Amino acid sequence: MKDCRILVVEDDRSVMHLITTSLKLNDYEYLTASYGKEAVSLCASQHPDIILLDLGLADMDGIEVIRTVRLWSDVPIIVISARHEDSDKIEALDTGADDYLTKPFSVDELMARIRAAARRRTHMHQAESENSVFTNGCLTIRYAEAAVFVNDRQIHLTPIEYRILCMLAKNCGKVLTHSYMISEIWGTGVETDIISLRVYMTSLRKKLSAGTDESMIRTHTSIGYQMIRL
Ligand code: CA
Repeated sequence: MKDCRILVVEDDRSVMHLITTSLKLNDYEYLTASYGKEAVSLCASQHPDIILLDLGLADMDGIEVIRTVRLWSDVPIIVISARHEDSDKIEALDTGADDYLTKPFSVDELMARIRAAARRRTHMHQAESENSVFTNGCLTIRYAEAAVFVNDRQIHLTPIEYRILCMLAKNCGKVLTHSYMISEIWGTGVETDIISLRVYMTSLRKKLSAGTDESMIRTHTSIGYQMIRL
């Protein structure tokens, strides 16, 4: 078996059969889901290495699946959809899909896309482990475990708070605008999301300030936020 487990999300039995048969022939391990909610929960509990995702699902749109999974995971997502309009592709890619294949698709092409996604994932993991700890003043982030410490005491963040913190840490010293942060977190640029962003920032700050009075994150009114290099 290859060191790569694939979650296949598809509600059409015959397409599912075609995909899983091809995966089996190519020695991949796989999990299957016919519903969006099932896919999200399997992704959270089983940590697949790649997701193959149909967009037209009975309980939720595949785009929503991408949006939800992207709140906490960077797992490569390859969309396999009958929707062939450019606007559908753009929406899926902008929401966080890595690749897009239109039905009917060739199995050889699908396998090539999976191999490419697996290679990217390996490179990503290598880069992560080379650069897996971030420290700034009393703050430590261990990316490999998604663990955050303040003064060596672990603090617990929600997936969105963690994403925000990583974004600020990776851009330490730079001012990140509201719209940049919103599009990175939610994949959209809706103005009303600024209110949600503020709520998350308040909660994140509170957790970070436990045990220290230094304000590591600076607010630039009407512009955005910045992590100060301490
Ligand atoms: Ca479908």
